[in-house]
Amino acid sequence: MDNFKYYNPTKLIFGKGQLDTLPKEVERYGKKVLLVYGGGSIKRNGIYDNVLEKLSEINAEVFELSGVEPNPRITTVRKGVEICKNEGIEFILAVGGGSTIDCTKAIAVGAKTDVDMWDIVTKKARAKDALPFGTILTIAATGSEMNAGSVITNWETNEKHGWNAIPYTFPKFSILDPEHTMSVPRDQTIYGIVDMMSHVLEHYFHQTPNTPIQDRFCEGILTTVIETAPKLLENLDSYEHRETILLAGTLALNNMLNMGYAGDWATHNLEHAVSAVHDIPHGGGLAILFPHWMRHVLDDENVHRFKQLAENVFHVDPSNKTDKQVALEGIDRLSEFWKSIGAPSRLADYDIDETSIELMAEKTVVSRPQFGNFKKLTKQDSIEIFKASL
Ligand code: NAP
Ligand code: FE
Repeated sequence: MDNFKYYNPTKLIFGKGQLDTLPKEVERYGKKVLLVYGGGSIKRNGIYDNVLEKLSEINAEVFELSGVEPNPRITTVRKGVEICKNEGIEFILAVGGGSTIDCTKAIAVGAKTDVDMWDIVTKKARAKDALPFGTILTIAATGSEMNAGSVITNWETNEKHGWNAIPYTFPKFSILDPEHTMSVPRDQTIYGIVDMMSHVLEHYFHQTPNTPIQDRFCEGILTTVIETAPKLLENLDSYEHRETILLAGTLALNNMLNMGYAGDWATHNLEHAVSAVHDIPHGGGLAILFPHWMRHVLDDENVHRFKQLAENVFHVDPSNKTDKQVALEGIDRLSEFWKSIGAPSRLADYDIDETSIELMAEKTVVSRPQFGNFKKLTKQDSIEIFKASL
């Protein structure tokens, strides 16, 4: 392992009825609250009314920013920053999924600086402060509820970048009630499952020696999600399976799994390039790209990690097979699993053809010439992975 420090100040409040804790949690930061949410799912499922009722218990003065897009945009961040500055907002409450939370992180930082947030997202400037914010998560997927990361899209330049500003972009608290995720439709449930599995896989593919505890954690989460996902998709109203998947999503990216090593993250970079150009769902893009990234980087030196995944997670029988055959069978099983739950498997599923490969590949190297830690990739690698994914 590498030396490491682990720091995660987010208070996780998990379980049925935990919205009751909201007034006390918000009150310690102030009463002028900006409520940030997406396209209206929280109004349809009643969460919006419940949140307002809870905030009224502390006589909070509530301002609203609605309409945060899936793949949140810098233009929406700027709107939120303006409200915070004009109204003297003291606390921001994100109610929604990764998009709403990521947008909130950028608003929180933007509210405390005169620098345009896109300069901070693209690392031209650094964050020095932020408003405190909390989250009420409504979809199991990104882990944004318990990490400091955020992904923002600039639709004018067709760029989508991940950024963070530790410690400012950690939520003060996140309330996770599985019941809040019951109304997530089938397709978004599937995307979330693919995203959380991808986060574990991004961690899993590293070159650091001696990580047996981390490997077993990763394999345990993958195995649990693989066991639970089909049951949940069979019965989307199952509290029990929603609960399992919700916790899996948080643990997959609160950086507990990658203590002592850095993960890969090439596939997320590839996916961000695809959705920056085509605005497709993040989990959908990952389901298409991950198996192709795997086949592209697999070689004689790193085959042991693929083989370990194949045997420990996908139960591939290694007898009478070469290491490479075992590894490839594992990749095929991952692909088949995602197809079996209804995830897309080709870029053509989103009407993406070869005409945008060059542009998407360019986007993968816009901030640096190489990317990925497990194996360094260049623009040419992106082109080959995108071609294989068509
Ligand atoms: P999302 O984009 O926040 O939400 C997806 C869709 O699900 C929206 O249409 C939303 O509707 C709907 N939805 C959410 N909760 C619902 C509920 N309870 N009932 C019904 N519909 C519901 O999804 P996400 O996968 O959580 O976030 C994706 C974004 O996060 C991408 O931009 C991705 O790049 C980013 N990401 C961030 C991290 C990180 O660590 N920060 C990691 C991976 C990915 P409404 O808009 O109407 O609410
Ligand atoms: Fe992700």
